[in-house]
Amino acid sequence: MFVSMQSSAIRHERMFIDGDWVGGSGDETINVVNPASESVIATVPKGTREDAKKALGSAQGAQPGWAELPPLQRATYMTKIAQLIRENRERMAGVLTSEQGKPLFESRLEVDSSAAHFEYFAEFARRLEGDVLPSDNPEQTVMILKLPIGVVAAITPWNFPSAMVARKIAPALITGNAVVLKPSSITPLSAVEVVKLVEQAGVPKGVVNLITGSGSDVGDELCGNKLTGLVTMTGSTDAGRKIMQRASNQLGKLILELGGKAPFIVWKDADMEWALKCAIWARFWNCGQTCISSERMYLDKSIKDKFLSHFVKMAKELRMGDPMAASTDLGPMVSNVERGTSERFIELAEREGSKVILGGGRPAEPSKGWYLEPTVIDDVRQESELVQKEIFGPVVPVLEVETFDKAIDMANDSEYGLASYVFTRDNSNVMKAVYKIRFGETYVNQVGPEQLQGAHTGFRMSGVGAEGSKYGLELYTQLKTCYIDWSDKPGLPYLFPYS
Ligand code: NAP
Repeated sequence: MFVSMQSSAIRHERMFIDGDWVGGSGDETINVVNPASESVIATVPKGTREDAKKALGSAQGAQPGWAELPPLQRATYMTKIAQLIRENRERMAGVLTSEQGKPLFESRLEVDSSAAHFEYFAEFARRLEGDVLPSDNPEQTVMILKLPIGVVAAITPWNFPSAMVARKIAPALITGNAVVLKPSSITPLSAVEVVKLVEQAGVPKGVVNLITGSGSDVGDELCGNKLTGLVTMTGSTDAGRKIMQRASNQLGKLILELGGKAPFIVWKDADMEWALKCAIWARFWNCGQTCISSERMYLDKSIKDKFLSHFVKMAKELRMGDPMAASTDLGPMVSNVERGTSERFIELAEREGSKVILGGGRPAEPSKGWYLEPTVIDDVRQESELVQKEIFGPVVPVLEVETFDKAIDMANDSEYGLASYVFTRDNSNVMKAVYKIRFGETYVNQVGPEQLQGAHTGFRMSGVGAEGSKYGLELYTQLKTCYIDWSDKPGLPYLFPYS
C-alpha cells in the first residue's frame, strides 16, 4: 500500500552569495512541495533583482583570482566536490526524490551522474589547449588562446535538479569562470545540496553563488545584466526564446538546452524483446519528464499490433507509488500543473477520435500526490498536437508506418530536434538513421544514458550550442589571438612604407 511521506520538519534554506548563506532582500519565500505527499517540505528565499545583482557582483569580483589558479588546482577542488557528492549520495538522492518525485533508484543514478560531471570536466585540466601557429612573417608567432568568459549565469530545470547543476557548474569552473546558479523554483533543494558541497570543498568565496527566485524576475535579471558573459540554461523552448531576447541586451553568449519530441521508431527486423524494454524505459523513466523521453512511437505496420499489445501489458505492470519505496517504478509527476498539461493532451486525443488504449486518468491509489496513469494512445494523426508538441508526462501517442523512409520523414516533421531512437538490425536502415534523421542525438538499438564525452545538442527549436563533451566545454571559453613579433628589429617595411 502507498505510504504518504510527511516531512516532520520544514527546512528553511538560504541563498549563497559571496561565500555567505543569506536570506533574500525581500520578505517573500518559495514553498518546496513534495509531489508524492503534496506537503510543504522546505522554503527558500524568493530572491529579488537586487539579490541577483549582488550575486553577479560577487562572481565578477572572484573570477580573476579563480582564473589565475593553474587548471590543475581548479581540478583538485572539483574532484573534491565529486568525492563529497559520492559520500553524500544517499542523502542527496533522498532530497532529490522528496522535491521532484522520481523513484529513489533513479535519484541515486542522477546523483552519481552529478559526481561524474565534476570528475569528467576536471580531467580537462591538462588539456585546455590553444594553438601556436606559423606566422606569414619571419620571427613572428601567432597564438590562439581559449580564455574564460567571466561570469556564467547557470539556469536549471526541475526534471534533473542535481545533474543539470553539475553539468553547468563543472565546465564553467575548469575553464576559469565564476558562476551564479539559479535553479528551478520547483526543485531548488538539490542545487542547495550541491552548493553546500562546493563550499565544503573549499572553493574560494564568490566563485559559485546560488540565488533562488522566479525565472521571470531573478532569471530575467541574470540574462539581461551586462555583468553576465554567458547564459547557460536548460528548460523549455518558450523560456529559451525569452532568454535569447533578453540576452541580446549585451549580445550575451548562450547555451540553450530546450524541449524535445523524440521519435521512437521500431522496425520489423528489430530485436522485439529488447525494443519493448527500451520503449518502456524511454517513455516512463522519470514519469515521462525527460527531454530525451520517447514522445511518439512509429511502429512498422507489420508488427504494430503485436508490439503494442506487449507494450501495453508491460506498461500496465509498472508499479506506481511512493517514490521512496524500493518497489516503485513510477512516481508522481512533479506538480499538479504538469499533470494538468498531460491530462489536456489526453482530452485532446479523445476529442480527435484517437483511442486511449491504456490509462488516461488518475489512479485510485495512491490517492494523494500528483500521479497519472501510464497512458497509451493509438490512432493518432501526425498533424495532431500530441505528435507536434512536447507532452512531458507518462503519455505516448502511437502511429503506424509502412516504410522506413516514411518513418524518417515523419520523425523529421517536428519543430524539435533533440533525441531520436531507432530499433532495426538492417544496416541500410541504421545508416539512413545516422545520416537522415535530423536530430542532435540518435540512439540505435539502445536507449540512453547519455555519456559525458557525447555532445548533448538540439537541432531547430531544441537548443543552441551543446553541453557535455569537449565541444560543450569550448563554449565556456572565448578565443583570443596574439600576434607576437620577436625579431631584433621589429617592423614590417611593406606595411609602413612611410616610416
Ligand atoms: P522552464 O519552465 O523553462 O524553466 C527552466 C528554468 O528557466 C527555471 O529555472 C526557470 O525558473 C527559468 N526561467 C523561466 N523563465 C525564465 C526567463 N524568462 N528568464 C530566465 N529564466 C527563466 O522549464 P522546466 O519546466 O523547469 O523544465 C522542463 C523543460 O526543460 C522541458 O521542456 C524539457 O524538455 C526541458 N529540458 C531540456 C533538456 C535538454 O538538455 N535539452 C534537459 C532537461 C529538460 P522558474 O523555475 O523560477 O520559473
